[in-house]
Amino acid sequence: MVVTFSRISINCDRLDRHLAELAEIGKLPNGGVCRLAFSDADVQARSLIKTWMLEAGMTVRGDAVGNIIGTYAGTESGAALATGSHIDTVPVGGRYDGCLGVLAGIEVARVFHENQFRLRHPFEVIVFSDEENSVIGCKAIAGNASTDSERYRRKDGTPIQDCLAKVGGNWEALSSAKRDRHDIAAFMELHVEQGGVLEALDKQIGVVTGIVGQYRFMVQIIGRPNHAGTTPMTMRKDALVAAAQLVLAINHLGMLGNGEQVATVGYLKVSPNATNVVPACVDLSIDLRDLSEENLQFMIAQIEQECQAIAKNTGTEITIEQKLHVLPTLAKTELMAVIEKVCQELKLSYTHLPSRAGHDAQEIGRFTDMGMIFVPSREGISHSQDEYTSPEQCAQGANVLLHTLLAIDHCYP
Ligand SMILES: [Zn+2]
Repeated sequence: MVVTFSRISINCDRLDRHLAELAEIGKLPNGGVCRLAFSDADVQARSLIKTWMLEAGMTVRGDAVGNIIGTYAGTESGAALATGSHIDTVPVGGRYDGCLGVLAGIEVARVFHENQFRLRHPFEVIVFSDEENSVIGCKAIAGNASTDSERYRRKDGTPIQDCLAKVGGNWEALSSAKRDRHDIAAFMELHVEQGGVLEALDKQIGVVTGIVGQYRFMVQIIGRPNHAGTTPMTMRKDALVAAAQLVLAINHLGMLGNGEQVATVGYLKVSPNATNVVPACVDLSIDLRDLSEENLQFMIAQIEQECQAIAKNTGTEITIEQKLHVLPTLAKTELMAVIEKVCQELKLSYTHLPSRAGHDAQEIGRFTDMGMIFVPSREGISHSQDEYTSPEQCAQGANVLLHTLLAIDHCYP
């Protein structure tokens, strides 16, 4: 792909002002933001976003799951180049997670608008519904949302039908939100890293190689409870000893090879959990993440073998139950190459890295070309009131987004 360079640039102060203004909606006393999906704060923020989209010369529509789609017309019709992210937060979130991607997209449209410039392609900014919880917005666009409404019932009991109606959606029309690569030729998401790699390497931009896949398992180890004093060591079936061996084996798997994969036991329940009883039963969780589904499968096979061996040498019974499987989504190689080239032109330092957190781009990348741009998170902190990315870093990311869109406008039919 050939990258020809234009001098236009996003407005750093304006982007920063809008990030601050959006953060006022749902602002917490500690400086964080609570803007849960479908809450009153979310509705208020959606309204502000629509206003900003209109100011930027976009037309605005909503779909059946309440995704907001702002379109800045191209000189030609046909498939769009799209960007976007989310404006909902976790209960105590920051002002950058998701919001940066949305506001940078609108800022790009503003720059086009004030320069009376149009891409060949229609340019879309999408605000995805409920990224932080059900991910229903991007899943519905990818055609992967569940049709079981109970799965989307909120913790407080509110049915998803009511939630969607509140943001202009319609559960009955769920399938109408689906789109394909004839609608969206490519999707680029700008996001804060939410980890500490860029800061540690002193790089300004992260060229995301993909969003990792994930497996989650619950493991049950059944031993035999017995008196901790009278039961000889050779006559025990100690479930916790078996669990300890498994925890170490899983950690070892995570450390193998290039160490790109991560493997975690984060939950452990010991029964009866008493000082003077040989442990009878342990429930534990396994969380595996990697960009390579093949490597994930390899790790699972290794864990199954370990479990068999551990069960044998500890006299326990071990069962494994799969609880979650999310396939990885790889970024399009050509889009990564354009982002790199843009970084070079803008004299921004960069590195490649996978995303180990989920993003809207993970679902959109299942049906069309996907690329992601990361900017640093101070001390790697996110989902917290302490989340921070400087105005300059936000603007650098938005500029990479802008110039990547300009470059790929000529690459797609
Ligand atoms: Zn996010």
